[in-house]
Amino acid sequence: MTETGTPAPKRHVIVTGGSRGLGLGLVEALLADGYRISTCSRAPSEALERLAGPDLYWRACRVGDGAEVRAFIDAAVEWGGVSPLWGVVNNAGIAREGVLATFPEIDVEEVIQTNLTGAIQVARAFLRAKLLKRGPGRIVNISSIIGQRGYTGLAAYSASKAGLDGLTRALAREVGRLQVTVNSVAPGYLTTEMSGTLAEDQREQIVRRTPLGRLGDVADVVPVVRFLLGDGAGFVTGQTIVVDGGITG
Ligand code: NDP
Repeated sequence: MTETGTPAPKRHVIVTGGSRGLGLGLVEALLADGYRISTCSRAPSEALERLAGPDLYWRACRVGDGAEVRAFIDAAVEWGGVSPLWGVVNNAGIAREGVLATFPEIDVEEVIQTNLTGAIQVARAFLRAKLLKRGPGRIVNISSIIGQRGYTGLAAYSASKAGLDGLTRALAREVGRLQVTVNSVAPGYLTTEMSGTLAEDQREQIVRRTPLGRLGDVADVVPVVRFLLGDGAGFVTGQTIVVDGGITG
């Protein structure tokens, strides 16, 4: 509530890659929490369209293309209007598998451009908008345990996610004085489209090695992002929080 008794405007959070998987789960949960959400993906999805309403904005944007990212964040901020720009979740990501010696250069570029350069572009555009609006805020980067532990056939992906954790640590120092927190959430293997390429024996091995005995689900990761976006996490910054059922423990 404001001093005049009118309800305070809802906080505005930007989530990249909201059309499916973890991003879609985050959009749905954060709308339910009372945030206004801007999201993007390269293509629309029926699942996201089903969530359409006054608190959800979607625009086609290829994260990794600086001009598209700037246009998306500008449009999102304009759409957000009086809602204070509160946070951004760098969720959009891609995985390409193959041993490095024969891995196409174009795939290396695409993975790094989307997962790392794209996240830097989004964080930069968000912070530029935030400097004008002031006030505290949150940046959450969705990295991966692969960035910490590696995995055969995922060298470029692993490098991109390790880079993201580095971005988290450096940016946390840089923007702490603005009361903007920056954290990573590093999930283990999730049952989304991205892990659909895992062979049955790989999947069984992961389950065997996971103390909690299963792959992760979107619903396992969402509460951690919710926490980091919330008021209770205002003194948590520069951290990577692992959500992996114990496989890296
Ligand atoms: P999905 O492939 O299910 O979804 C990825 C989302 O990102 C889609 O909405 C996709 O939409 C969007 N996206 C991809 N590339 C771009 C781009 N260049 N610009 C804008 N949007 C883009 O992946 P998950 O939900 O599984 O993964 C979400 C995040 O979690 C990723 O960062 C991933 O690396 C990370 N993660 C996933 C794990 C897993 O096992 N699945 C484990 C650990 C981390 P569109 O294709 O239309 O652009």
